[in-house]
Amino acid sequence: MTDLYYPLRSLREGDWFKLICGASFQHLPAIRSLVLAYALAGADCVDIAADPAVIATAREALRLASELAASDDLARSHMQALPWLMVSLNDGEDPHFRKAEFDPIACPPDCPRPCEMICPAQAIVFAPSPPTADSATAFRVMQRNQVSASCSPVDERVSGVLGDRCYGCGRCLPVCPVQQISTRSYLSTPAVIAPLVLQAGVDALEIHTQVGHLEDFRRLWQTIAPWVCNLKLVAISCPDGDGLLDYLWALYDIISPLPCPLLWQMDGRPMSGDIGVGATRAAVKLGQKVLATGLPGYVQLAGGTNHHTVPKLKALGLLHPHWRNPAGTLDSAETRQSDTFPPSRMPAYIAGVAYGSYARTLLTPLLNQLDTSVMESSDLEQSVSAPRLLPLTQVTASLRSPTEPKQATRRSQPLRLEERPELLWQAVTLAHTLVSQLKAFNVSQRTRLNL
Ligand code: SF4
Ligand code: SF4
Repeated sequence: MTDLYYPLRSLREGDWFKLICGASFQHLPAIRSLVLAYALAGADCVDIAADPAVIATAREALRLASELAASDDLARSHMQALPWLMVSLNDGEDPHFRKAEFDPIACPPDCPRPCEMICPAQAIVFAPSPPTADSATAFRVMQRNQVSASCSPVDERVSGVLGDRCYGCGRCLPVCPVQQISTRSYLSTPAVIAPLVLQAGVDALEIHTQVGHLEDFRRLWQTIAPWVCNLKLVAISCPDGDGLLDYLWALYDIISPLPCPLLWQMDGRPMSGDIGVGATRAAVKLGQKVLATGLPGYVQLAGGTNHHTVPKLKALGLLHPHWRNPAGTLDSAETRQSDTFPPSRMPAYIAGVAYGSYARTLLTPLLNQLDTSVMESSDLEQSVSAPRLLPLTQVTASLRSPTEPKQATRRSQPLRLEERPELLWQAVTLAHTLVSQLKAFNVSQRTRLNL
């Protein structure tokens, strides 16, 4: 039996898990691996950049995850149904929609490169030999063509910020002793993007906004409104700010009525979950504040979320009543509220949590192992050729028989996660340590679905 309402049920039951790949993260091999691992670990939604290449990569990973879950004889998959694909748009300047940049030729030769060390996305690289005007030009060409690391190992001749890996966290800016790192912001172009991405089978759309952007938001909404009927969920992501609650009500007035459920993503401390345990405080506090308003829609946390978020929510009694009453006997008011769908008012609990930098960092050591596996060529021409795609049937067959000797092939591409089954399932197990914090209760109650 397939539960058509599954991802929505997670929202209603307060155990919605979203993976944030990043609104400006375009590193296709990493996106593919993250989506694959977290889908198999039981994620409900994956949030990716509104970029057709990123969408195609994520969809391919989801298709593969579905095949693997269905053929997983050892029951290592925790996937209940195919996660939804969400893309993000912005209505104005927003740190999620920017890239760092600097000219490596201008770096003092004796700089200890703190930028390289602090970058959580390994987006800053330096060639073994000092950068020259020629290597800088080659690098700019690669960036312009968006081929630097999207489908190949990083070229060893280049130095600078790899645009597809940078997701705009801004941590490199303050550590540069000569302040030569800047950011380039961009605004999504919804009139072009909306038809492209929504026709590509996207399930959900997230709009990033902030207090004071009301007119920009209104303009953006008018552009995408004709496409909203194709969506299963609309999310609005907003950080805290003076007048936040009035602003959210004003947004609600603009978008009402909606043909699908609404999710408020409360962005506590953007892109900081991997910095430390305390990063989660702002998101929890913000979620609490918004829950108290009674706005219609679900509330989900993001921005600073990490392994400490769910314990904190539990301690504050902000999770679904199931967590307070595991025997399953809800009081009548709680039952009425959770059974109403879509809810006529905001549920009095946090519907879920989205994890970005923490979820990515959790898997980084494993994905790095994959990156360093068999790469035979560093030739630039070879490295930008199209990635080799294995038929899904071949992949799933090889995973069912992991001991079969692998065919020796020459390749210039990094390995795909499914080609190293032991790494894949380690990644799934690790990802599940995060997913299961939210789903530990409900998974045991649910009937496993046929995918
Ligand atoms: S902004 Fe963040 S992700 Fe981008 S290069 Fe700087 S540290 Fe790395
Ligand atoms: S910290 Fe600044 S000067 Fe030093 S290597 Fe990085 S960008 Fe160059």
